Amino acid sequence: MLEIRSLNAWYGESHVLHGVDMDIPAGKVVSLLGRNGAGKTTTMRAIMGLMGKTQGAINYGGVNLLKLRPDQIARKGIAICPEDRGIFPSLTVSENLFLPPIVAQGGMDIERIYALFPNIKERASSRGTQLSGGEQQMLAIARILRTGARLLLLDEPTEGLAPVIVQQIARTIREIKQLGYTIILVEQNAHFVEGLADIHYLMENGAIIDRLEGAEFATNIGRVDKLLAV
Ligand code: ATP
Repeated sequence: MLEIRSLNAWYGESHVLHGVDMDIPAGKVVSLLGRNGAGKTTTMRAIMGLMGKTQGAINYGGVNLLKLRPDQIARKGIAICPEDRGIFPSLTVSENLFLPPIVAQGGMDIERIYALFPNIKERASSRGTQLSGGEQQMLAIARILRTGARLLLLDEPTEGLAPVIVQQIARTIREIKQLGYTIILVEQNAHFVEGLADIHYLMENGAIIDRLEGAEFATNIGRVDKLLAV
């Protein structure tokens, strides 16, 4: 379980998170929804130890992650798939997969990764630049599974992808969940997370404004869509 308590964060003098509270139970998929600038990425950066000034607590395994360095947090088995996916364009798919160090025990071996991502296996010797957006997203997820992380932060994995690819990503996330991983899904697409996430948090202006589960989310999806509309 990851618990975020009264999290405040600043970029320089600019105060962007105002008392965020979230619970991410082990083995669940939790969505964090909000429009551009709501503070979703900043929340993920705080979990990874990448924000300068913070207040509050992010408790995980009995420690407050806000007191740790990014490398110590990575060794606790937490990894992020950033919004830009972070693929090295001039390296091949397999080089991209082998580049990050294994930081925690239980990293997925390459055979399992290729079984989970058959299209990545087919493209093993292609360069990052030759991959489609969907393949890049799959590779970015595969890469963090290899590191041994058990808590995965996926920042807008469906951004810019065609609906059929979005469905593939949803299937992959379900498979990963079944393997016992915990996933935080930052999204602006409410329909993608409906039925995929167990718990949904809505964020606006750097604070959580609502928490919805299952059927409750489905009933409120019109309101959620309005919140996310630019
Ligand atoms: P997006 O989908 O655009 O990434 P988001 O919900 O993830 O949206 P954040 O990126 O967390 O939002 O941004 C929260 C606030 O912090 C916004 O007002 C944004 O302008 C501001 N912000 C983000 N990055 C920086 C930065 N490096 N320096 C200063 N302010 C920033």
